[in-house]
Amino acid sequence: MINFEYIRASSVKAAVDALAKNPTGGFIAGGTNLIDLMKRGVTVPTRLIDINNLPLKEIEESKTGISIGALAINSEVAENELIKNNFPLLSMAFAAGASPQLRNMATVGGNMMQRTRCTYFYDTTMPCNKRQPGTGCGALNGYNRMHAIFGTSEKCIAVHPSDMCVALAALNATVEVSGIKGERKILFTDFHRLPGETPDKDNTLQKGEIITGVTIPFNSFNKNYYLKIRDRASYAFALISVAVALEIKDGIIKKASLAMGGVAHKPWRLTDAEKYLIGRPVDPGHFQKAAYLAMKGAKGYGQNNFKLKMVPIAINEALTKAIA
Ligand code: SF4
Repeated sequence: MINFEYIRASSVKAAVDALAKNPTGGFIAGGTNLIDLMKRGVTVPTRLIDINNLPLKEIEESKTGISIGALAINSEVAENELIKNNFPLLSMAFAAGASPQLRNMATVGGNMMQRTRCTYFYDTTMPCNKRQPGTGCGALNGYNRMHAIFGTSEKCIAVHPSDMCVALAALNATVEVSGIKGERKILFTDFHRLPGETPDKDNTLQKGEIITGVTIPFNSFNKNYYLKIRDRASYAFALISVAVALEIKDGIIKKASLAMGGVAHKPWRLTDAEKYLIGRPVDPGHFQKAAYLAMKGAKGYGQNNFKLKMVPIAINEALTKAIA
């Protein structure tokens, strides 16, 4: 690890100002991913701004929804009564993520900012356009069992590893950020980005901006389920995950919101499947058709071809479990 300067920020403005003065610096909160990145030399910030003292830990209810501070701890959000009662999908997704120890350290903002777990990204001797633009993509013709089948580019086929973010994408959340130019909101589905020509950029944050919180609007979803398929029962990233939120009334699907993890560079909303399901009766045949529609544009890269078969099965299973 290289030497770096360490400072503690006492306000959001102080944190933003501190980063503006040293653009090669970065924020640290739980550090559950950042420390690994620094130890391996993947990320080398010259200044670390500790934001743990900022007043961004609250979970608060308003007339329209619930806001969660960026520094709220994952395990506390998962167990919070407001969250469990209003957004059981989010609690389920948290419970599926990482390990209890990591959930007790990781923050909501950090969960959003975590980097891909692509092997080549963490190995500084290997080519990786995300770590070092222009060096190539080791995974494209290499070990790519965990990699994306949707929204890829020739530059990068990595996936975003979060479970929480998949649920927040399905729940139509909004991200609140603050920067030198002031505050702004970003739709959660617009926060993470596809790799395109610039896979080194994971999200749409402007330079120097900090995440201050996430707001989830109240909804009428009465059937929710988070399905995670992984290599072992705990402490493993998703091969595939599916977040399902449905409003069902008198046997008819009134609203549907579906997102997937482990398949793209960002949480992947299944908009074609959602459109198909809305207004139709609850029926296994319709679930299968929706799962089929969700596969539009899917592409395998060899070792991850199994996902092409597994994804529609997983969508069907998540829908079936949601209504059970
Ligand atoms: Fe790097 Fe992305 Fe290729 Fe992995 S998939 S090696 S992160 S460019």
